[in-house]
Amino acid sequence: MSSPEQMSDGDIDQATETAQTYLEELEDAMRREDAAAAAEMFCAESYWRDLVAFTWNIKTVENPSGVEDMLEETLAHIGPSGFELTEPAEEEDGIITAWFTFETEVGRGEGVVRLKDGGAWTFLTALTELKGHEEPKGRDRPIGAEPVADPDRKTWTERREEELENLGYTEQPHTVIVGGGQGGIALGARLRQLGVPTIIVEKNDRPGDSWRNRYKGLALHDPVWYDHLPYIKFPDNWPVFSPKDKLGDWLEMYTRVMELNYWSKTEATSAQYDEETGTWEVEVNRDGEELVLRPQELVMATGMSGKPNVPDLSGEERFSGEVHHSSEHPGPEGYEDKSVVVVGSNNSAHDICEGLWEVGADVTMVQRSSTHVLKTDSLLEHALGDLYSERAVENGIDTHRADMIFASLPYRIMNEFQKPIYDTVREIDADFYEALEDAGFMIDFGPDESGLFMKYLRRGSGYYIDTGASQLIIDGEVAVARGQVTEFTEDAILLEDGTELPADLVVYATGYGSMNGWVAGLMDEETARQAGKVWGLGSDTPKDPGPWEGEQRNMWKPTQVEQLWFHGGNLHQSRHYSLYLALQLKARYEEIPTPVYGRQEVHHEGI
Ligand SMILES: Cc1cc2nc3c(=O)[nH]c(=O)nc-3n(C[C@H](O)[C@H](O)[C@H](O)COP(=O)(O)OP(=O)(O)OC[C@H]3O[C@@H](n4cnc5c(N)ncnc54)[C@H](O)[C@@H]3O)c2cc1C
Repeated sequence: MSSPEQMSDGDIDQATETAQTYLEELEDAMRREDAAAAAEMFCAESYWRDLVAFTWNIKTVENPSGVEDMLEETLAHIGPSGFELTEPAEEEDGIITAWFTFETEVGRGEGVVRLKDGGAWTFLTALTELKGHEEPKGRDRPIGAEPVADPDRKTWTERREEELENLGYTEQPHTVIVGGGQGGIALGARLRQLGVPTIIVEKNDRPGDSWRNRYKGLALHDPVWYDHLPYIKFPDNWPVFSPKDKLGDWLEMYTRVMELNYWSKTEATSAQYDEETGTWEVEVNRDGEELVLRPQELVMATGMSGKPNVPDLSGEERFSGEVHHSSEHPGPEGYEDKSVVVVGSNNSAHDICEGLWEVGADVTMVQRSSTHVLKTDSLLEHALGDLYSERAVENGIDTHRADMIFASLPYRIMNEFQKPIYDTVREIDADFYEALEDAGFMIDFGPDESGLFMKYLRRGSGYYIDTGASQLIIDGEVAVARGQVTEFTEDAILLEDGTELPADLVVYATGYGSMNGWVAGLMDEETARQAGKVWGLGSDTPKDPGPWEGEQRNMWKPTQVEQLWFHGGNLHQSRHYSLYLALQLKARYEEIPTPVYGRQEVHHEGI
């Protein structure tokens, strides 16, 4: 192992020397394929998170026993080597943090280690590229113009048109991505750069429509530093919170300039695996034309939210008003002066209530269980500020570094890192929370007080990032009713305690099912069950049943259904994890062996 340039002048500090020696010894044990010796170099409580480099999976193993098992199974074919610090290590509160790169037989990777009392406490390894299949960038970028006269020379446009004409017709794509929202688009861009022939099918008319079609007042709840797509960052003058239509336009531009084979107005109507050919048969309707695509790999990027949850209430047929799910809510226009009941108390419910109040509707929100509310300022300053903010950028933490830091915190103990943030927020915003509770709104900070991200990672719901609706509740402008809706009368919806809420419109902001619900629709229920529930960590907290999985179920990694993958999540996850999914797909395209270590089991059918 050689030391980084900046450390070659003999002034290596103690932390750096410790980290360097640690990596040398670990590499040595691994070279000898001595899994036990390598595992002994981990603390009694320790976490090795691997993003595809060792496991061809997204996997966290715990403690020396977990590390030993993983290395026993992988060392012989992975052949890790070349561990090298990329910068001086840092020590804080007795913990040494070091960044490094390494190689395997087939790829190159990067990682972060935290050392405590001489052993590794957390260890992250992430594959960044496959040897011989690097992305054509930097010094290897395409030349663009060919400086040779040739009567048969084709222009970029001609080659692109040819590709668009052939792919899906005379040539089959290797990968089909169903769903061309931000998830499908980001993954499509990665696969494009890696040279994997891919088609994205999207039933909407234009890229970006999955955002445009949402309710009028929506802007992203996450700030711009968190939201960059791969390859093209938002410019410095982009607003902190992207208005939904502006984001739609960005996605449309991105799809075009990244040269994605994006089939809009195309719905995937069914998909079956053909055992004989080892390919999927994906039936699509492309703007009226029925076609069958035969890819090897099929990625569901149909939205992590899955299908809308709609309560089945008695008496709906006699209700004279209108009822729809939040996913179908057209926006507030047309509901001026109407009485509206919004069932649910999370992000969508709040946004919809706010929009309706703005046009003069009489709005009641029905809250069944408590909600975690976070003020936007507090999200920016306390929850994300250290990693994703102008302050972070000024401190040298660019998006990639922030993504890696975030990825290096094991899910098992992430709640412990998160809790102090929310303890601070609760104190700083105490008046706000008190006023909300006085208005009858039930607040929580998660089952273990760990706040927004843990709720997101565990269940993908149960929170509101306040963009104004909380003040309406505090002021009594939006009424809050507590309880479970049970049935309709002719002109009202009833709660279980008999409370009658008169309504012209009822909006169910009741969330969505698991993403494998889309598999049931496209393939069949058996395949959906075989794949199992998507999302959640197995934390055994509400809506995230155990056992502990340690990674998000089924996301970006091999599932129990061969050649079927799930992709999605928020913009940060879509950006970061699309790399690891793309590398897994690229390896399969190049027929590089990809023995999966620790493929997750299915414990919940999820449909
Ligand atoms: C109100 C609201 C606010 C949100 N705010 C944020 C935020 O601030 N930041 C953030 O990161 N996330 C936010 N989210 C979460 C957001 O849903 C996801 O981040 C994002 O939409 C996920 O992108 P996706 O590509 O995975 O899914 P989607 O955007 O849902 O895209 C899935 C696509 O699949 C298509 N599709 C489905 N079935 C088929 C089929 N059979 N054939 C062809 N096409 C199909 C759909 O038309 C759709 O375009 C919010 C969500 C909601 C509802």
